[in-house]
Amino acid sequence: VPRRALPTLLMVMVAVAGVAGGCGGGSSPHGRAATDGAGTAPARQAANGPVGKRERLGHSRAPVPVLMYHVIAPAPPGAKYAGLWVAPAALRAQVAALAKAGFHAVTLDAVLDGWAGKDTLPPHPVVLSFDDGYLSQGQEAGAILRAQGWPGVLNLALHNLDTPGGLSTSRVRAMVADGWEVDAHSLTHPDLTTLDATALRREVAGSRAAIHERFGVPVNAFCYPAGRYDATVEAAVRAAGYRAATSELPGAARPSDDRFALPRVRVDRGDSTAAVVAKVHAALGSGT
Ligand SMILES: [Zn+2]
Repeated sequence: VPRRALPTLLMVMVAVAGVAGGCGGGSSPHGRAATDGAGTAPARQAANGPVGKRERLGHSRAPVPVLMYHVIAPAPPGAKYAGLWVAPAALRAQVAALAKAGFHAVTLDAVLDGWAGKDTLPPHPVVLSFDDGYLSQGQEAGAILRAQGWPGVLNLALHNLDTPGGLSTSRVRAMVADGWEVDAHSLTHPDLTTLDATALRREVAGSRAAIHERFGVPVNAFCYPAGRYDATVEAAVRAAGYRAATSELPGAARPSDDRFALPRVRVDRGDSTAAVVAKVHAALGSGT
């Protein structure tokens, strides 16, 4: 790990440990289904049905697994938080397996447009999100997704940009040209729940403005650093003009969810290719 990335990794792991203990029970696919709106039941039926107009309409309300990745490299010996490292070969196999299982990667903007009825999602949409802005996400994930013809979603914490071990501005531009979406992950990756109003606004609205200015992209989603948020943080994200935010709550993202706390499916180093596909199916509640 680049030394400058370590504090970020530490913060992520602290939060992941906290979230894993307390948030799993409330967000099972079945618990969520009970609160779904009228459009969701047909969407689920259509997901397994014949191809046709109904299916395409239905998919626009489909749940979407948003996969969460961090470093795309083999974990060095003795790495303290080795679970956050996924080797390039493992990612390549996961992408191939998801494609073979019928999934199509899209951006979060596409998901939100689909749910809003502005666009049609492909059958079995999935989002691959990459947090923080590590160099390996450009070098490795960028190449793997380009080969598949899939977009990725980069959740960029601006303090990692143009640092040793971080993505360069030119690399991010190349990723955007490949179809990647760049979303905001704050300026300095703090625990946003601990900040005063001024600092919170700077991290949330400031990161959106900075990415938009540097890369000329819309920046419609925010990703909570280390998954940490509360009602005040959510309000700041809404006030900054984002359409949605991603969290580290487990599960697939659904149109009935709080748009400012969308769940994600975490991919760990120890997950086999089959386990990742199984996690995706489990998040969708469709079994395997
Ligand atoms: Zn992060």
